[in-house]
Amino acid sequence: MVNSFDRAVLRSVCLSLAALLLATTPLFGDTNERRVTKLADGVYAIEHKYLNDGSSSGNTTVIIGDREVLVVDSCYRPSSASEDIAQIRQWTNKPVGYLLNTHFHNDHNNGNKTYLDAFPSLAIVAQEETKKDMDLIQPGNVARAPGEIEAFVAAFKQGKAQDGHTLSDDEKKLYENIIPNLQPLLAEFKTMVYQSPTLTFTDKIDIDLGNRQVQVKFLGRGNTSGDAIVYLPKEKIVVAGDLLVKPIPYTYDGYPADWVQTLHRMGELDATTFVPGHGPVLHDKAYLYLVADLMQSAVDQVRARIRQIGFPGGHTVDDVKGSVDLTPFRARFAGDDKDLQSQFDEMANQLVKITFSEAAQR
Ligand SMILES: [Zn+2]
Repeated sequence: MVNSFDRAVLRSVCLSLAALLLATTPLFGDTNERRVTKLADGVYAIEHKYLNDGSSSGNTTVIIGDREVLVVDSCYRPSSASEDIAQIRQWTNKPVGYLLNTHFHNDHNNGNKTYLDAFPSLAIVAQEETKKDMDLIQPGNVARAPGEIEAFVAAFKQGKAQDGHTLSDDEKKLYENIIPNLQPLLAEFKTMVYQSPTLTFTDKIDIDLGNRQVQVKFLGRGNTSGDAIVYLPKEKIVVAGDLLVKPIPYTYDGYPADWVQTLHRMGELDATTFVPGHGPVLHDKAYLYLVADLMQSAVDQVRARIRQIGFPGGHTVDDVKGSVDLTPFRARFAGDDKDLQSQFDEMANQLVKITFSEAAQR
């Protein structure tokens, strides 16, 4: 069973999700590969690719002002954060004054301590719910991470996954590629220290980096209960965190009915560039509205079923899922790519689950 909160681990070797990994990790050998996109003078998006240990980080955005720098998200591996810091120092000699954690998933904030060590006067910013979730979940994640890797390796040596099932040939092939690269990750995780956000907000913070206005906003629940976005009004740029992930949204947890509203609020911003939490930079709002339409369809269909069966608290998702069909969206997300199609189907199943659980909370 996948912990809904452990998204980064889900994308690493530590869970036995071979199908997902097979579908999403075409890049073995592309160690430390990253794609930098200049969004405006002094504004850069860093898209992190899968590493040869199967792990990956969320995107990082760097916003440079005349006095100081704001960074959005600090990676899954602290060493990736160090590489980003080295990159930032090539772009500017101004210090990083602010690091924003867009949400609590650890592929966006394991590198917090690395930034704080490099820039001691740093403020680590998060929406208040995100800080609460991080303080609840991250210390345990950090403590468990080395043991999870060791257990994964031990199970592999027995031809098994961590959940005890015998590895398929595909899984074996995949894991054989990953196992030799896990030692550096293990060493890093053994020394990793949790660093909580140091500055929280409820609705917004406006920050002047020196001739560079940055608006940090909470537009409502979505991917988590505390998703922060960044808006640069002059440059018309939005940094969306995992409210937007391309090509296939992340729906491991979240609140789809609220998420739709949040995306529409984001769409109302006067912006032409959107940096998703994972995936390439977007240059219009088409994908934002596609994701909103997908989620609205899930919400509408789940509600229609609840009208038939009655109070959702007396039911489970099994009573609902057969009545929800999201396949009309599949080609719009996945085209004719078989791997993406299977990722879409997995995402759609998960979307129905979280849509039902959101409805059942009422
Ligand atoms: Zn993420």
